Amino acid sequence: MAYKDPIKEREYQRVYQRKWRAENRGKVSTYWKRFAEGHREYNLNRAREWNKANRDKRYTYDSKYSKTHREKRRLGAHNWYKRRSATSIVKQTIRRQKRRALEKKAIGYFCEGDIKMLFRQQAGCCAYCLEPIAYGQFHIDHVIPLSKGGTNWRRNLALTCATCNLSKGNKLGYTPSWVFPA
Ligand SMILES: [Zn+2]
Repeated sequence: MAYKDPIKEREYQRVYQRKWRAENRGKVSTYWKRFAEGHREYNLNRAREWNKANRDKRYTYDSKYSKTHREKRRLGAHNWYKRRSATSIVKQTIRRQKRRALEKKAIGYFCEGDIKMLFRQQAGCCAYCLEPIAYGQFHIDHVIPLSKGGTNWRRNLALTCATCNLSKGNKLGYTPSWVFPA
């Protein structure tokens, strides 16, 4: 006994135990794991009985849980999407373009290396309006649209800002900045 006063003594014990548990997390968790294993059947039965007796509570709890977790999952996915690196964004764009090219039965293919080269060639600017574009923020445009018989080779690609790409659409007659007259 460290203290003669029983209240102080209890307080001392409580602090001491809390400290011990904090320092021996592994031991504590193994203990509870073993305890739960030993009482599996018992715990399951108890939970089942509780659920039977408290249907309403169970229902409210479950629906609340699924709602909050749906929100959490959604936010998690959203944050993951925002945190993607420029490289992974570009790779995803390439995959999308590959799929489109296959659908349109266009010939040619390109990889991220091609896009990097193009980005350097365009000095990090939109091919049409020459505004700076960040790596991963550009659109990959087919100069001659796939629907007009353009290929999927690098020679037919231009990196553009969103505005230029969307206003161009599948129109012909756009000349990228890096095509100099011969
Ligand atoms: Zn532009």
